[in-house]
Amino acid sequence: MKKYTDEKIGDNHILTTIETPLLSNAFDKADEEKIENIQVYFSKIMEELGLDLKDESLSGTPYRFAKMYVKELFYGLNPNNKPKLSTFPNKYGYRKMLIEHDITIDSSCEHHFLPITGHAHIGYIPNEKVIGLSKINRLVDYYSHRPQVQERLCLQILNDLQETLNTQSVIVVLNAKHLCVSSRGIKDKDSSTTTIEYGGDFMDIACRNEFFQNLSKK
Ligand SMILES: [Zn+2]
Repeated sequence: MKKYTDEKIGDNHILTTIETPLLSNAFDKADEEKIENIQVYFSKIMEELGLDLKDESLSGTPYRFAKMYVKELFYGLNPNNKPKLSTFPNKYGYRKMLIEHDITIDSSCEHHFLPITGHAHIGYIPNEKVIGLSKINRLVDYYSHRPQVQERLCLQILNDLQETLNTQSVIVVLNAKHLCVSSRGIKDKDSSTTTIEYGGDFMDIACRNEFFQNLSKK
């Protein structure tokens, strides 16, 4: 194992690949086995910090932590947990912009494993397919629940929607606060990060302006 810890890499938020870097055997073990193992590893971290796990308040923490990691915070690592993105034929012939505002983002930064929280605003212009609105929220939730980098999260949502809807005309805006910026390092409580990715008709500035004007009206 590499002992050296490069703090600079974490603080520069380097993005190496659009795909989440996963081991080839990432899902060979069942969730229950992962929870058992992580429970042991996290006990060791707590003990290393000097905490007494015999204390009533602490004794259940390693299990709670392990379960939270596997089943909640990082459920989106496992492709088996991906929501079914059923689409419907665009029977009413709606060809203009559809915007889903203020979708909650609950994610974690992959460099510090601290929360990233904020909102996603997503627009698309349908051709022959439309999607159930809550499916967009579920897709954001799924990709958020991985160790993430905000730029990658933005691109993963965009690429998936473009493929699912069979159109390039999708725009994804994320605005989020990173706890690793507000609670450690520079400790800036007020700054937030916006990422914007788009394709198709949104390459046209007039189309993008229409989208952003709708966001500011809300
Ligand atoms: Zn971070």
